[in-house]
Amino acid sequence: MERELETLFEAQKIESMIIEGERKLLQAPRRLRQMEDQLSEVHGKIDKEKEIIEELEKERHKKEKELEGEKDKIKKLEVKLYDVKTNKEYQALLKEIESAKEANDRTEEDVLVLMDKVEDLRKDYQSSEIELKKLEKESEVEKAAIEKETHSMDQVIAKLTTERDNLLSIVSENLRTIYNILREKRGGLAVTNVRNGVCLGCNMNIPPQLFIEVTKNKRLIQCPSCNRILFFREND
Ligand SMILES: [Zn+2]
Repeated sequence: MERELETLFEAQKIESMIIEGERKLLQAPRRLRQMEDQLSEVHGKIDKEKEIIEELEKERHKKEKELEGEKDKIKKLEVKLYDVKTNKEYQALLKEIESAKEANDRTEEDVLVLMDKVEDLRKDYQSSEIELKKLEKESEVEKAAIEKETHSMDQVIAKLTTERDNLLSIVSENLRTIYNILREKRGGLAVTNVRNGVCLGCNMNIPPQLFIEVTKNKRLIQCPSCNRILFFREND
């Protein structure tokens, strides 16, 4: 019996490694998704920046057209100065030219402000593009690493599963059945060590007399609290 219990104990160790491997495998899609999210966030930022730059450029073109119109207007008014007959008309025209020039100055100022803004935004846009390229490169590397890891983990799990099944095949059918049921019901942990009178599966005390029995590994004993198969091995 001791031999069989020990075999189950070893099978359990492998089982726990399989569970850990599967847990890691499940993390891979999450890591990939996180990377995708990060990438699309930077993409979104860049698109927004581009959109704003385009809008401001449109406004600048509009203002530049206005500026041309205003300059034409001033020229025409200045030509008219030669044709006026009275001083009153002359003064009125001068006033009109003056205010057209003021408007022109304001428009010019607007154009300059817009150009400054666009220049700053272009700098942001360029650094966002560099950030994106860097992130894309990192993602590629990480993705390849995850794929490689996943692939080798698949192989490791397959190998461990064979080892576990080999071990389980040499214990009695009765023990194997109990093991499989407990594995299902107890989160993959069917066999557990004991220490200082405590079941390491559920951390509950085992009655002293029973604990002494357990340390002998002579018969199948299950934890009174969690039902797990108990096996005693020092320093493990
Ligand atoms: Zn227990």
